[in-house]
Amino acid sequence: MNAKTIDKLLNELSFTRTGGSPEELKCAEMIAQMCREYGVEAEIVPFKVDKSEMKRAEFYIDGKPIACRGYLMCGSGDIEAPLYYLANTDPCSLSECRGKIVMIDGYLGYWVYHDILDNGAVGFVTYDGDANYADRDIDRRELRSYVSQGKKILGVNINAKDAIDIINSGEHVAKIVIEQDEGEGESRNVIAEIPGQSEEVIVFTAHYDSTFLSSGAYDNLSGSIGILAALEYFAGREKPHYTLRFIWCGSEERGLLGSKAYTEALAEDELKKIILNINLDMIGSIMGRFIACCSSEIKLCHYIEYFAQEYGFGIKVAQDVYSSDSTPFADKGVPSLSFARLAPHNTATIHNSYDTVRVMSAEQMKRDIDFINAFAERMDAAKKMPVAREIPDEVKKKLDYYLFREREKK
Ligand SMILES: [Zn+2]
Repeated sequence: MNAKTIDKLLNELSFTRTGGSPEELKCAEMIAQMCREYGVEAEIVPFKVDKSEMKRAEFYIDGKPIACRGYLMCGSGDIEAPLYYLANTDPCSLSECRGKIVMIDGYLGYWVYHDILDNGAVGFVTYDGDANYADRDIDRRELRSYVSQGKKILGVNINAKDAIDIINSGEHVAKIVIEQDEGEGESRNVIAEIPGQSEEVIVFTAHYDSTFLSSGAYDNLSGSIGILAALEYFAGREKPHYTLRFIWCGSEERGLLGSKAYTEALAEDELKKIILNINLDMIGSIMGRFIACCSSEIKLCHYIEYFAQEYGFGIKVAQDVYSSDSTPFADKGVPSLSFARLAPHNTATIHNSYDTVRVMSAEQMKRDIDFINAFAERMDAAKKMPVAREIPDEVKKKLDYYLFREREKK
């Protein structure tokens, strides 16, 4: 794929496409169409996701309205209580949550949510954006069902500037009012396959959904174009050794829902055929270093390091769990790796309105894609896949932490 095509695709597909939305479907159809143009049939495979229509979301501090967005899937109703800012999460700080609407820093993680619930919180407030930016954007957030586990309290997201003002001005009574229709919706994976001489499968993944405020050029239209370029590359050559499957995953931003749905629906013998997963999540930014994160035996890290040196490509490789669609594959025992070009946050941020084509370079994308294709070609050429089809214990441990099966002792 040349830089001109990359540039064209970046511009055509940079639009907000949240998991389960009509825009996500539109993007899925465009991706499937491009696969067909490269001579490979593609299928849009739906899966169920939570869906909510927010009717009303209000947040008041001492009776004064504060701009907010209600958390999807957090229930409906109203609650009034003293506001408490949970700056630390030690037992002493947590014990102050009882009967309060609790403001927390950062994302609403699984453990912090259950910590505040266990300590008697009656509502929650998160904030996002950046106090140093001019905008007053507020992201739309969701109380994910695997976070709530059915235990819901009302919550809102506000802008960081308001959060600072509220905390700076002393003690307050907060009120949350939410009205929403919760139900079930549909998101989709796009799946295309190039049959190989072997039944064993290398799976390429990239999520194509975005968050609410973002046009998702960098996160992760870039990776979606990356695996499309891999499909084009292999479709134009003689039959590959391994069967090559390409999955554009939906609803990754809502908690890796597409890759989880895919791996969970797969029969055991089909899963066994998958010998490697190559995932792309954010490549081709103007700034930033290229990394590989391998949820596999350490030998793959060393191999990628050697291969990159031989090829002449700067890279940093680590054995770890990456917060992307490679993780559900690794959790099913498939050696998985994610490639990414990680930009410093002051040059390209994600999950906000600043993730646009402006932070992208078609030339850099092409260099990244060429390297990824060269690596994939080398793996495909293997007479026998050298990567052990097992996940080492230290990676399994990290998967337990990442997937909230076990709590990491800090
Ligand atoms: Zn992403």
